Amino acid sequence: MKKKNVILPALTLAFLSSFFAISILTIKFNQPIKNLVKAYVIRYSYAYLEPEAQKDLEINIIPLDQVWEMLGKVNQDRALNDLRQLTGEDPICIRSGCYTITDRLSGSEGLDWAQDYLYENLVNMGYSVEFHSWSTPDYADQNVIARKQGVLKPTEEVYFVAHVDGARSYDAHFPAADDNASSVVNGLELARILSNYQFKRTLVLFFSSGEEQGSKGVRAYLDQLSSEEFGAIKYVVNHDMTGYDDNHDKVMELFHGGHPPSVGLTQMMSEIIGIYHLDLVPKVVVGCP
Ligand SMILES: [Zn+2]
Repeated sequence: MKKKNVILPALTLAFLSSFFAISILTIKFNQPIKNLVKAYVIRYSYAYLEPEAQKDLEINIIPLDQVWEMLGKVNQDRALNDLRQLTGEDPICIRSGCYTITDRLSGSEGLDWAQDYLYENLVNMGYSVEFHSWSTPDYADQNVIARKQGVLKPTEEVYFVAHVDGARSYDAHFPAADDNASSVVNGLELARILSNYQFKRTLVLFFSSGEEQGSKGVRAYLDQLSSEEFGAIKYVVNHDMTGYDDNHDKVMELFHGGHPPSVGLTQMMSEIIGIYHLDLVPKVVVGCP
């Protein structure tokens, strides 16, 4: 591929470890977590937490053997194989056949194939997977949502979000590879590894569409939730444009909206990157890029 310096493995590790650390916070230290998060803004790399979560994030994070074991299972070849299929470098193949993706615009055939690929793979991993259809006057598409039920608190959910749709490509090659097939393959690799573990809370891998038109898929999803379902969302980490380091500085930007608990979550993720030697330079950033 043209862009050679793909840093997917390190970024996948970062998201993997952040998920696991979030789970561990309550298991390891037995901290009471009540009404931690109401995920609201899921644009770019925002994370949002309720104020009660703040003290939970002040705990020192201790590296754990199980996390090292999980990190060791990240497979770069597998992730790159997904990336090549999602960007038309190789045909994308599902049970019904193969197709070469030329773009993943919302409403496009290419995005349909990408979503079917996600659906089949996630089902085969044992996740409970659903399509959530949405429409606006201008656009219609669907989100792919995979769940793995938590063992101790199944009604509390931890979300990892990545948009599958892409903007129109002016380069005929590798459509929307960094923005945002890179994060979609992170999500798939996370799904593969985490499928072999049990967690306290329910894991939700949310592959959205309509992001390039204003996060339409995510907004439609949030709008149709009941207040109880909305309250079940405890943590949200959205990843976007995570595959291409154009200036080779290894900086991973962790965006938050300035809300103190969200600042705490991004700082925690920053610490995790250091503790697990992920070969990234975390940079906490306020605002929206
Ligand atoms: Zn994006």
